[in-house]
Amino acid sequence: MASDPREARLRTRAQIEAIPLGGRPLVVCDVDEVALEFVIHLENHLLRKGFRLLPRSYGLTGNIVLDGTETPATQDDVRRLLHSFFAEDTHLQTPVAGAAESLSILSEWADIVMLTNMPDAQREIRSDTLARHGMAYPVVTNTGPKGEAVRHLADRAGGPVIFLDDSPSNVGSVRKAVDEAFLVQFIGDPRFLAMATPVEGIHMLTGDWREALTLALGVLGGADPERLPPGTVAGRESESGTR
Ligand SMILES: [Mg+2]
Repeated sequence: MASDPREARLRTRAQIEAIPLGGRPLVVCDVDEVALEFVIHLENHLLRKGFRLLPRSYGLTGNIVLDGTETPATQDDVRRLLHSFFAEDTHLQTPVAGAAESLSILSEWADIVMLTNMPDAQREIRSDTLARHGMAYPVVTNTGPKGEAVRHLADRAGGPVIFLDDSPSNVGSVRKAVDEAFLVQFIGDPRFLAMATPVEGIHMLTGDWREALTLALGVLGGADPERLPPGTVAGRESESGTR
């Protein structure tokens, strides 16, 4: 991670300014646990490094322990382990079910930007991984709360802004900075979803892209049931019973 927060903010800002946003509505999508599965890959990484994740409460802090013990890893260890995960395993991450298909449908109505908290050094690997899984959208790396970055993006959008992220602090920060944004607290891992508390002011807490897609299409005014995949809440299957 960047050691100088000001430098990191400027770098994020420069990345945002380099994206050719076309005055359309905007979907700002987090990557880890929203577009790409994160927790299961982190668990594998931790085991290789002699640690283990105990999913006993929402969050990583205090739940990463030395393997075979209940001794929590230190803050320094957690920082080091996340760093080594991003450096060594980012390319292995697999897509969250429905993410690529949903973002592809949304891209007909909105610009899509992937806003991810990770070291900038891995941005290209992350971009390649996303593209390999059908999500070739601009990737912006960020450090810390995402409110400021989403504010800059929203200022360049021409229509509604939808923000999806699993992190309560990111969702809360965007709520404060961009009060017009539609907020989806999206947690792909079912164990962590079950332990999550909805952040105040969100429009949806889910781990299901069909639900998120239905909400987003409603916001974007593109909610034509004929265009939604079968099984989507407002899609053909649920419609068929009423016709
Ligand atoms: Mg995330």
